[in-house]
Amino acid sequence: MSQATLHAPTVRTTCPYCAVQCTFDLHLERGLPVKVTPTKDCPVAHGTVCKKGLAALNDLRHPERLTTPLLRKGGELTPVGWDEALAYVRDALGNLPPERIGVFGSGSLTNEKTYLLGKFARVALRTPHIDYNGRYCMASASTALNRTVGYDRGLGFPADDLIRSDLLLLVGANVAETLPPLMQYLKGIKDRGGTIYAIDPRATTTSKVAGRHLAPRPGTDGILALGLLHLMKQWGRIRPTAPAHGMAQVLAHADDYHPARVAHDCGLTEEDIFTLGRAYAEARTPLILTGRGPEQHTQGTDTVQAWLNLAFLTGHFGKVGGGYAPLTGQGNGQGGREHGQKNDQLPGARSLRDPRHRAEIAALWDVPAEALPQPGHSAQELLNACGNPAEGGLDALIVIGSNPVVSAAGAGQVTQNLKALKHLIVIDFLPSETAQLATLVLPGSMWCEEDGTTTNLEGRVQRRRRAVTPPGAAREDWRILCDLAAALGRPHGFEYPDFRALQDEFFRATRGGKADYSGLSADRLDRATAQWPVKSATGPDTPYAYAPPFFTPDGLATLHVPQLRAPTLAPRALHLTTGRLGNQYQSGTQTRRNPALKAEQTVQIHPDTAREHGLGAGDLVTLRTAHGQATAPVALTPGLRRDTVFISFHWPESANLLTDPHALDPHSRMPGFKATPVTLHPAHLS
Ligand code: SF4
Repeated sequence: MSQATLHAPTVRTTCPYCAVQCTFDLHLERGLPVKVTPTKDCPVAHGTVCKKGLAALNDLRHPERLTTPLLRKGGELTPVGWDEALAYVRDALGNLPPERIGVFGSGSLTNEKTYLLGKFARVALRTPHIDYNGRYCMASASTALNRTVGYDRGLGFPADDLIRSDLLLLVGANVAETLPPLMQYLKGIKDRGGTIYAIDPRATTTSKVAGRHLAPRPGTDGILALGLLHLMKQWGRIRPTAPAHGMAQVLAHADDYHPARVAHDCGLTEEDIFTLGRAYAEARTPLILTGRGPEQHTQGTDTVQAWLNLAFLTGHFGKVGGGYAPLTGQGNGQGGREHGQKNDQLPGARSLRDPRHRAEIAALWDVPAEALPQPGHSAQELLNACGNPAEGGLDALIVIGSNPVVSAAGAGQVTQNLKALKHLIVIDFLPSETAQLATLVLPGSMWCEEDGTTTNLEGRVQRRRRAVTPPGAAREDWRILCDLAAALGRPHGFEYPDFRALQDEFFRATRGGKADYSGLSADRLDRATAQWPVKSATGPDTPYAYAPPFFTPDGLATLHVPQLRAPTLAPRALHLTTGRLGNQYQSGTQTRRNPALKAEQTVQIHPDTAREHGLGAGDLVTLRTAHGQATAPVALTPGLRRDTVFISFHWPESANLLTDPHALDPHSRMPGFKATPVTLHPAHLS
């Protein structure tokens, strides 16, 4: 394997984008990476790769790459030196009460940066208000798993086991576009005679390969799961995985979800429900995988809970090849939700509310436990509070590796809020739409300019290796956070002699947590990747995570009764659902600038619905919701439900102008991205 030596001919690292975390060899010429080769020993992709990964180097020296700090002077972002930039930070933040400062992180940060960001917020800034964009991604599935079995390790098993399923239900998971290497496993399941259902309001490339497609109304996936549990109970298929709390209540609640009701609520036929039910009842190893479709709702946690309950009560949860698992989306979405950038969390997936956890981490950080803040705002609440005294008023926000003015719900309101801040400090490597609003932009590092680790969708920790130094005056992000702590007069705990010192402290900080990485080191990861927990340097890793006893006080799971209601629509309204395109990633800061990743924003509408509204292919249509409006060309899409329209969220001033910034899932604090009532208006009549 290649070493992380600068200017070595090849450097092995991981892709900057999705949670497959494909491993690449980067080929260097004159010190710069010029080509990506996928590696056959990648544990998930096995040498396959997608277009985004192959094109990832195109942005490395993009003409818009940020190479010097930019300070807003006379209304313009103006190049300045680091001394002036850090003096601004000292003056801007040094005199604010800590609770008026927020920090907004990212599921694209390495584990080490995630850890350091949480420490920086709580020790250097002393603010309770830190959260991250993963709140918009996996939060509902993560919350459902945590409250049921006490932890969330993504798939919970090696990806190679996927082909051992004889019935795969992909619920709101368009893996062909979002996690392309997983398609080889779908082929493997079919080659072995298995069956695959795509459950999605849209026909997609994934549903075509799956071969079986059910298109429930947006927001009703959980009701479909309740209907299946109803049938399993009727047919005597209840054989719980293990003793658990709450089973009787969950089973009694399912009595109300008979096929006629479920078919009505979901917009399916009773035959659809019975056919899927029979397939599930007869399968030996049915596997349910959820994506963002069921999760990004204001009842996302209970929606996922309904599927998790089904897998658990039919005895498949934790079974090799079967059960329930979520599909993580962002590159380090798994590690990003474990090590302290969530508002209620300390490293190792510890709880900020637990006195023992607080004491453990406070000792490591050499601060009194009582000095650690209590949990603050979650991501959307944090953005709603920016410049807004009515919602807990923040005066300053630090954003790293995220672009919330595109990706947050109610992006129009979020933009106004960020403009109203006294200080918006953005650490990034390209001028995202959020950076363009900043009072100070600090130029950070890209993926192949930094060392670290990421944790993929299987809970597997891998090394990311530095191949090149950041250009100009740009700095590695971890150094920037340490520089900020020093500028604030709180350097203690941020004076790492080198990156390895930070990394070793991070591994130590996870010891005793649920997400325990303490047996890992860079050297061990050079020899082999590892699935957590890894509790000692010589001990094994843990390929299978979801087996009893669970990480709960008594080792038992607790099932919860899902509280679900079908969405209602006013006359002439439709369901608006949002999602991703294969050639783009997240808010598009990198991929929209990449000439190899062509894509355009359209509104997908069923041809009959378009005709009813006087619309044809390519016509401009204005979408209106209670929260805003957006206009884009029509793409006629026969595979979409007639009562649903789809728009991707990768472009500014588009999809998230239409979503609600205030209605949040009560458990996960997830906004509703997937089911907003909308009306259509031909743009020439608007
Ligand atoms: Fe692999 Fe995902 Fe990167 Fe594509 S985007 S190369 S699937 S890690």
